[in-house]
Amino acid sequence: MKSYRKVLTFHTKTRRAFINITRILEECVRESDIKEGLLLCNPMHITASVFINDDEPGLHKDFEIFLEKLAPEKPYDQYYHNGYEDNADAHLKRTIMGREVVVAVTDGKLDLGTWERIFYGEFDGKRDKRVLVKIIGE
Ligand code: ZN
Repeated sequence: MKSYRKVLTFHTKTRRAFINITRILEECVRESDIKEGLLLCNPMHITASVFINDDEPGLHKDFEIFLEKLAPEKPYDQYYHNGYEDNADAHLKRTIMGREVVVAVTDGKLDLGTWERIFYGEFDGKRDKRVLVKIIGE
């Protein structure tokens, strides 16, 4: 069995952002030379997500509104977590959007559905954040 590991770094200019990382992960699969197996991708942080959905700007605005309704950023003092930090909302948003994705690798390619795209979801950005890519197979 072959194994591949890579750590990507993202640094968003805004507190929240969604970045389509599908092409980057396809490149990782090529680099790994693994034809049949599984790809795991997760942020190495607890205020960011990796998730699969549609690459459609309207939907991304809808996600922002939906997440702000459930866990609004402000006022900061509404959260017990916000003492030394102001990112309680980011922890909650990440929990809603999930931690990781696992995608099948078939014939050397990501075996995604027609409209499935992989995103990095940042909820407490403006700093370096690491994302792990692990691929196993043969
Ligand atoms: Zn925190």
